[in-house]
Amino acid sequence: MCAVSGFGKASTTRRCRRPATTSVHVVEESRGLVLVVEDEPAIADLERRYLTHEGFGVHVESDGDAALDAVRRLRPAAVILDVGLPGRDGISVCRALREGGDWVPVLFVTARDDEVDRVLGLELGADDYLTKPFSPRELVARVKAILRRSEGRPTARPLRIGPVTLDPTSRRVTRHDAEVALTVTEFNLLLALARARGRVVDRAELLASAWGQADYAGSRTVDVHVAQLRAKLGDDCPIETVRGVGYRVRS
Ligand code: CA
Repeated sequence: MCAVSGFGKASTTRRCRRPATTSVHVVEESRGLVLVVEDEPAIADLERRYLTHEGFGVHVESDGDAALDAVRRLRPAAVILDVGLPGRDGISVCRALREGGDWVPVLFVTARDDEVDRVLGLELGADDYLTKPFSPRELVARVKAILRRSEGRPTARPLRIGPVTLDPTSRRVTRHDAEVALTVTEFNLLLALARARGRVVDRAELLASAWGQADYAGSRTVDVHVAQLRAKLGDDCPIETVRGVGYRVRS
């Protein structure tokens, strides 16, 4: 196998031995996806460059709502979350994740001491924080540390809706403690509704959550899968139709 190299240690990069005349530099295997949520482009770019050099995949969002959507779609290994964002701020994003049962590791980036107090005081399950200005190397070290600490830790806790329990980590669903076999799509659909915690979710959002960015699936597809979920969960199915809008779960 080819060697692994670390950023800043170019001398450790080895060339693969190949019979062909070409040689290939191999960078470290991807360590997973990090979602960077930062509205200052220069800082976001710096974070992206350093994390990419360390072998992380990086996705950048610059506002809170887009960040929540990205967490649901992309399931990152960790989130670097600026507190001061336009619109929904970083604290509100983290709270929404935790209330939805999502315990993805979060590294807060704060600009002021009073933000640190808020982050630490609200018990949002922040894994760590950094104060601006910070060294990009420190940022990378912190990301690696929170990933090490969260290894083996479920990133999402089971969600209960009446007698139905969903475990996002094992992807098991039980009803009155008996397992219910769901397809991947049915599970994703139920999870998206459960995470909305009683909020009405329209079909477009359900399509995005359960099917990703697929263009081929139409709103009728959502209705068909909801019907299948109802058939499987029977009288205990917590999904209600909100006519003309979408669906919600009884909370
Ligand atoms: Ca900011």
